[in-house]
Amino acid sequence: MANRYDLVIIGSGPGGYVAAVHAAQLGLKTACVEKWPRLGGVCLNVGCIPSKALLDSSEYFHLAKVQLASHGITTGTIGMDVSKMMARKEQVVKDLTDNVKKLLENHKVVILQGTARLAGKNRITVDSAGKTETIEADNIILATGSAPVAPAGLAFDGKTILSSTEILKLDAVPGRLGIVGGGYIGLELGSVWLRLGSQVTVIEMLPEIASSMDGQVRRRLQSLLKKQGFTFRLGTQVTRATVAGDKATVVIESDGKSETLEFDKLLVSVGRRPLTQELNLEAVGVATDPQTGFVRVDASLHTSVAGIYAIGDLVPGPMLAHKASAEGKAAAEIIAGKPGEVNYDAIPSIVYTAPEVASVGLTEEHVKKLGIPYVTGAFPFAGAGRARCLGETEGFVKVIAHKATDRILGVHIIGARAAEMIAEAVLALEFGASAEDIARTVHGHPTFAEALMEAAAAVRK
Ligand code: FAD
Repeated sequence: MANRYDLVIIGSGPGGYVAAVHAAQLGLKTACVEKWPRLGGVCLNVGCIPSKALLDSSEYFHLAKVQLASHGITTGTIGMDVSKMMARKEQVVKDLTDNVKKLLENHKVVILQGTARLAGKNRITVDSAGKTETIEADNIILATGSAPVAPAGLAFDGKTILSSTEILKLDAVPGRLGIVGGGYIGLELGSVWLRLGSQVTVIEMLPEIASSMDGQVRRRLQSLLKKQGFTFRLGTQVTRATVAGDKATVVIESDGKSETLEFDKLLVSVGRRPLTQELNLEAVGVATDPQTGFVRVDASLHTSVAGIYAIGDLVPGPMLAHKASAEGKAAAEIIAGKPGEVNYDAIPSIVYTAPEVASVGLTEEHVKKLGIPYVTGAFPFAGAGRARCLGETEGFVKVIAHKATDRILGVHIIGARAAEMIAEAVLALEFGASAEDIARTVHGHPTFAEALMEAAAAVRK
């Protein structure tokens, strides 16, 4: 039957497209349904990729303006053409999403454009331009991702009160940018506009920013961002935001006191919710968590209905592209009758501020809470030759190891190359390495990675 598949995947984000390619490689007749005109999901279109493209452009701007002089480089007047920066970002996104399309086509994955809805355990309808097509599948992977949350009183208007999607498309640098939420998305997007000249105020309900980070790293990040010009209003709740003209007026509350702030743009980045409403899950019997909205899955990513799987932002765990891809790969393997799995203990998380923050495994706070006996070792980038050559000496590497066995429990890095360096720590965790294993591994000199080796050596003092 032409429209019957071994596997249909709903959503083409880093979860869905990776699952599709992997399933095709494993010999499954596979289709992928996507409602957006471009493949790649949030990550490629309005998430990881455009945000990093803007972070890179704004970092070059900052380097040219502030840091090059210390290398003896003289520059003329430095300017920023925001429309050119945005056009470059769009080109990066287009190139990558085109690549995903080619990748699927090369693997003979059938791409169906339209909005998918479950019509039964093995049946899906795809709506596109007023037409409905019905397809059948032995297996289905739900990979519809997530959408930004707008809390009560903070509805997005797309012009002044923005979600992460709209702030990636601004055509001018806002004078005063307010950010509700001190998580990684707010800090990264705040960094872009701060470097380009905005006054950035982060309003966070908790007493600290980036609350899931290791405390030592988080405190260092906060103080470095403050030095760069971020204003933090911590332990502060936004109760309401209204728009008058082209300004947002925000009412905040802290210690029982109320205050009003005014911004040219307000980014609301307080979290994301799984995107399930179009899928018709209840009718088919796919269970979701009533509190969080996540689709319930077991260790094999199987939902409550046989043959239907769910991955990525739709299911519990960190909302990260590489976690979605790892689950996509595992689900494809399981459907193909192979032993697929994801090691949730070794998923890195990275914040692309300057300096970057990257971590894997348990934080010191976590280890303490779990009552695990532990030791730590740390090494500052100021002691690494390569970091000195580049003038990137802020930050440190911290290794947490089991006190008795020396097995690595967590690695936390704040520093210029943290995003790339964390891969070695992830591999170490994956292989169950000890701190001594890293300390005795010969690292190239001079590199940033030597700081990890030194921090591992410092565990045993
Ligand atoms: P998504 O990428 O959300 O893709 C879901 C797809 O399903 C979408 O294309 C959607 O159109 C489609 N879809 C939805 N419903 C239907 C339907 N009914 N029918 C057909 N198609 C449908 N993560 C990182 O790891 N690193 C980062 O640096 C990073 N930066 C980020 C920056 C920002 C600003 C944001 C917002 C997110 C960032 N993320 C980052 C998170 C990352 O983008 C997500 O974790 C990831 O995209 C989730 O992948 P997914 O495949 O689960 O879903």
